[in-house]
Amino acid sequence: MSEKLRFYNTLSRKKEVFKPINKGKVNMFVCGPTVYSYMQLGNAKTFIQFDFIARYLRSIGHKVFYLQNITDIDDKIINRAKEEEKDWKEIKEKYEKAFLENVKKLGINSVDKYARATDYIPEIISQVKRLIKKGYAYKISDGWYFDLSKDKDYGKLARRTDLELNDAVTRIDENKEKRNKGDFCLWKFSKPGEPVWKSDIGNGRPGWHIEDTAITEKEFGSQYDIHGGGIDLIFPHHEAEIAQMESISGKKPLVRYWLHTGFLEINNEKMGKSKKNFYTVNEILELGYSSEYIRYFFLSGHYRKPLNFTFENLDAAKNAYEKLKNILSEFKKSKEKKNKKNIDLAYKQFVEIVNDDLNMPKALSYLWDILREDRLNNAEKYELALKFDEVFGLDLGREEIVSVPAEIKELISKREASRKAKDFVTADKIREKINKLGFIIEDKEKGFAVKKR
Ligand SMILES: [Zn+2]
Repeated sequence: MSEKLRFYNTLSRKKEVFKPINKGKVNMFVCGPTVYSYMQLGNAKTFIQFDFIARYLRSIGHKVFYLQNITDIDDKIINRAKEEEKDWKEIKEKYEKAFLENVKKLGINSVDKYARATDYIPEIISQVKRLIKKGYAYKISDGWYFDLSKDKDYGKLARRTDLELNDAVTRIDENKEKRNKGDFCLWKFSKPGEPVWKSDIGNGRPGWHIEDTAITEKEFGSQYDIHGGGIDLIFPHHEAEIAQMESISGKKPLVRYWLHTGFLEINNEKMGKSKKNFYTVNEILELGYSSEYIRYFFLSGHYRKPLNFTFENLDAAKNAYEKLKNILSEFKKSKEKKNKKNIDLAYKQFVEIVNDDLNMPKALSYLWDILREDRLNNAEKYELALKFDEVFGLDLGREEIVSVPAEIKELISKREASRKAKDFVTADKIREKINKLGFIIEDKEKGFAVKKR
C-alpha cells in the first residue's frame, strides 16, 4: 500500500512516484487501433485497463487530458483494401466506426479525444522536415528514413536495439538501401494507386511511428506525462517515437512515465492472428457476455501481467459479477444511518491499494472483503461500492438485473444472442418463456430492463 501514487515506469524499470510535469494537468496518450479489422479481445484488455487508470487518476483529483490516436493510414489498411477490392477510405471508415461502437459498448468513456493520423498530415510533414534539417533523416528510393546511427540513445526504453522474435515484424520497413538494419521509415513515397499526400519532400504518406509524435506534439507539446500501450509496442514503435521526438526537440524525456499492459493469452498461448487463436470483442458479446463481465475479467488481473483467457475464466468473472450485483441490490435497500467517517476511512484504504502501481485486482478483492466483513453497515457498503465503481465502470448501481434467478438469466443471454444474430423468431419465443416464468423484459435504448411480472 502506498500513500502516494506510484507507477512502474518501463523507462526506469522502477516504481516511481507520480508527479505531473505541469501541476494540475495530466497529459496521457495511449496507442489506438489501426483500423483495418475488428477489435480483438487483446486490444480490449489494453483499452479497458487504461480506462481504469484514467478513471482512477480523475477520481483522485487529477485533471486528465486522455488522447488516443487512430491509425487510419497504414500498409495494413492498404493491403486489406486490395484484398477486399475496395477503396482504402471505405475500409478505414468501416473499421473506425466498428472500433468506436465497441469502445462505447465496453464502457470506455475516459478518452477525451480520438485523433486520426490523416488529420495531422501537415504536422507529420513538418516533423520529417525538421529531422531532415537536423541530419537525422535520409532519402532512398522508397522514402525518407530515420538514421539510427545518429541517435546514441536508441534502445533506452526497450534496452535493446535489435529485433526479436516477438516484435511486430510486419511493420519493419525493408529496403536494401537502408544505412542500418533497424532504420525505420518516416515518409513513404506512394506507389501508383496508393493514397498520396502532396509535399515538397516527395508525394507520399506517413510511416507508422511518426503519426503518434506528430499528434502528441500538436496536442501536448514536445514532452508529456504518460504514454501507454501494449507491451508488444515497446520495440520498435515506442523506441522510434522517442528517437523521433527527442531528436527534433532536443528535450528529454519525451514521456515521463511509460506504462505497458501485459498480453492477453488464449488458453495459455499468446493471442495472435497468425495462430488463429483470437476472438473479437463482437464475437464475445454475441455469445451473450455483457461488457460488465468483460470488464470484471480484465479487472481481475494486474495491467502489467499477462492474463489467460478461457471461457471458464470468463464464466468465473460473470458469476462473481452477478453475485456482486445481487449482494449490492440487497444492501441498497438498507435504511441504516451512514457514518461518513467510516466510508472515508475505507475509501482511503482503497486509494492506498490502487496507488501501488494501480493494483486493481487487489482493490477488487478489497471490495469483497468490505462486503463480507462488518466494519461497515450495509448502507455504507453500498455507497462505498458505488465510489469504487467510478473507477471500475461495472455499472454496479444499475438496477435492472436484480434478484433474477439463474434460469432466467440463461434465457436472457440466449435471447440477446438470438437478437444479435437477428433471429427474432427465436428471441420472441424466449421472451414468452421468460414471461411465463414471471419476468418481463423491456428493451431500452441501451440494453434492456428485467422486471418481475
Ligand atoms: Zn502508437
